[in-house]
Amino acid sequence: MNLHPLDELLQDRCPTLMVPRYADLPAMTEAGHRYLMAADGLYIEVLRPWLHLRMLISGNNGFSFPYGAIEPVFNLRFTGEALRASLTRFMHEAEQAAPKESAGWLMFNPKSGQLSFHRPELLSQGNAHVHYLRPEVREDSQPVVDCHSHGHIPAFFSGEDDQDDLADDLKISFVIGSLGSDTPTVAMRLVGLGGINFDLTLWLEQLIPNTSGGFSYSGCIAQYNGIESDHADQQQPHH
Ligand SMILES: [Zn+2]
Repeated sequence: MNLHPLDELLQDRCPTLMVPRYADLPAMTEAGHRYLMAADGLYIEVLRPWLHLRMLISGNNGFSFPYGAIEPVFNLRFTGEALRASLTRFMHEAEQAAPKESAGWLMFNPKSGQLSFHRPELLSQGNAHVHYLRPEVREDSQPVVDCHSHGHIPAFFSGEDDQDDLADDLKISFVIGSLGSDTPTVAMRLVGLGGINFDLTLWLEQLIPNTSGGFSYSGCIAQYNGIESDHADQQQPHH
């Protein structure tokens, strides 16, 4: 088949692979994403300096595809402690800005594995909206967690948030609300690339009050049936 040069480029950057049945699937070696046709359906696999994700996005619908089986993967390259420390910084800023909404980004440094707080340029800010710029991607500073607050209103992802987030590159999206009350509310999700949208709120709620150093993703993994870390929780039963 003679491919158009643009199709050639597109399929090279974002291929769909048939998962081998009798050999290992070649690992991704550079950042990007690909689709994998496996025995039980279609997966997306995403590699970023901060993330390795492989998740089923469509089942086999009763068909028996003649391909190999693969395991889901959800592996963040930063620790829960790094996330908690930089999120706390944003939560303090959001508290001070309330009832106005505010925004921030957590940036990942691939060398140190650390996250740092970045205050984005605000285009406009009010009690029911905040508009801000996405930070540039640099080798040592990559935007990973997109944070905004809802001021005194509870945390949730609005239709506008859905529109912004789903069209974006893959990221973690965080919102804090009910500020000024005794019980602020939070919501978090992994979202982007048009279709990935899975809730991390329960995982986060366990993470925030946990002040001990070590952190395992097992809580999160147990909740998001089928998503497992590829190294963190060996004793975690397979779903
Ligand atoms: Zn919102």
